[in-house]
Amino acid sequence: MCVYNRLTALILCAALLLVLPSCIKGNEPFIFTSVGMGTVISLKLYGGDENNAAEICALIDEIERASSLTIEDSALCGLNKTGQTDNLHLIRQAEVCVDVAESSGGAFDCTLGAVSGLWNFGHEDCRVPAEDEIAAAMKYAGYEKLALNDGVLTCGEDQTVDFGAVGKGYACDVIKEYLDASGIQNAVISVGGSLLFYGEKNAGWTVGIKDPFGSGKNIFTFILRQGFVSTSGSYERCFENDGILYHHILSPDSGYPARTGLVSVTVAAESGALSDALSTACFVLGEEKGKELLERYSASGVFIREDGTVNVYGDI
Ligand code: AMP
Ligand code: MG
Repeated sequence: MCVYNRLTALILCAALLLVLPSCIKGNEPFIFTSVGMGTVISLKLYGGDENNAAEICALIDEIERASSLTIEDSALCGLNKTGQTDNLHLIRQAEVCVDVAESSGGAFDCTLGAVSGLWNFGHEDCRVPAEDEIAAAMKYAGYEKLALNDGVLTCGEDQTVDFGAVGKGYACDVIKEYLDASGIQNAVISVGGSLLFYGEKNAGWTVGIKDPFGSGKNIFTFILRQGFVSTSGSYERCFENDGILYHHILSPDSGYPARTGLVSVTVAAESGALSDALSTACFVLGEEKGKELLERYSASGVFIREDGTVNVYGDI
């Protein structure tokens, strides 16, 4: 039986990272919560107002309209239909995707869209596809077929490119560019599992990773001066079938959910798209190889294993 739990996923996603901006005194933030990119968006703007919130939401909407696989006239659906696009949002996401695909030995692959489409995680008709269906869809995968020439991004014939693993982090990058120009001093932006901690005026942000096993407490906390943090977890978009949990982060070797003994990986990195791509890649690679990948990017990570062990790598 397929247990649909998108709502649970949204709630968990929003609850996973608890931010305690306790170091800013005498400056109450403007707080705004919304829904976009298929997830919960929350904004805490120190010195900002509803106009800033509306402008940030418009940016998120613009990115979603470019990057969505479900909006039929999105630039991404256009790329998947015609094999090419000059949309800048897609080009910027593709650059990060190809870089992390190469450095992860293909563990990260944004061309698994046809396979993900079979599983349909996060939707009511999610299911375990037949083996031959997966094998057929896997033939279209291969990030090596993506190319960028003269400002035009192309993909292989019949490929389904899917930026689900970088899109939310990328949105945080675009919002940072907005904040840089806005005069807002400090902010915490959360787009699903990707967060931006903006501004250094305080003594650092306390970031709490909530226990993915549901105790309601933090399983780990760390101080971040500023930057981007993303989490990938097997509890996010998943369903149970005959007692087996199937989740949305796929192994490009098999087309089945990656099983590396992890429940979640949280990554802090220099850009949002990078933190998002790395958290997904580390989940697929597992702890040992994931740790090495983080070192290559001078990024930090918190790996939570299925047995509850928490291991921290890098400078946090
Ligand atoms: P995230 O929650 O950031 O880890 O991204 C997971 C999403 O990325 C999935 O819902 C798929 O859309 C896509 N995806 C699944 N497996 C992979 C993979 N191995 N590499 C890149 N993207 C993936
Ligand atoms: Mg990701």
